[in-house]
Amino acid sequence: MRIILMGPPGAGKGTQAELLVEHFQIPHISTGDIFRAAIKDQTPLGLKAKEYMDAGALVPDEVTIGIVEERLKKEDCQKGFLLDGFPRTVAQADALTKILESLNMTLNGVVNIELENEELLQRLTGRRVCRKCGSTYHVVFNPPQNQNVCDKCGGELYQRSDDTLATAQNRLNVYHEQTQPLIAYYEKRNLLKRERGDQEIKQVFHEILNVLE
Ligand code: ADP
Ligand code: AMP
Repeated sequence: MRIILMGPPGAGKGTQAELLVEHFQIPHISTGDIFRAAIKDQTPLGLKAKEYMDAGALVPDEVTIGIVEERLKKEDCQKGFLLDGFPRTVAQADALTKILESLNMTLNGVVNIELENEELLQRLTGRRVCRKCGSTYHVVFNPPQNQNVCDKCGGELYQRSDDTLATAQNRLNVYHEQTQPLIAYYEKRNLLKRERGDQEIKQVFHEILNVLE
């Protein structure tokens, strides 16, 4: 199964990705996670990505595309993959089309999770993430059993530095300007599956499985 999860920041891509990669037993490729890991390890990539992420801007295409290309060439992607948060620009989508052609791979679908700005902001500002395993929670909509402790691994939960109201607002503007055009891009290629994000997590998951299978 080869899937792209698209949608604005906060729509629920990471949450659905956790469930989908478990179901299909495929690697989860999140460019945001790759950048955050690089920042934590203080690599040159991390130093570069940080200035853009802190501002809520996109990391430049030439950096991002190379990383995804390398990742898709790894052996474990032979059984499929889920791309979460990539592509985010038309240039990235064009590059991905070429990379997949060169690897003789086709996509099963591009799932676009849709949600209004007001709800997106509530979701982003209340999001908490596990430092250890990366699982995602929400202080109101999807709280952990014990405050600030991950249900799955006991790790500490933290708030992403780009989930403040001001940065989240910037990220939504960037999404509408640079990423939203990809809806038409994949619609034209008959790959787009629209999914309503304003439903329970499990309901969204079952509907995504239905459109993919
Ligand atoms: P994205 O990866 O698209 O930025 P996340 O999956 O991290 O989004 O979800 C953003 C926030 O919204 C998280 O705090 C998550 O727990 C919460 N969330 C995700 N899906 C739902 C849903 N269907 N209903 C309510 N809250 C949700
Ligand atoms: P995410 O974890 O998907 O919310 O992404 C967090 C941040 O990482 C974004 O606001 C961007 O700064 C950066 N980022 C993630 N994916 C991409 C991408 N495909 N292109 C450019 N920047 C990205």
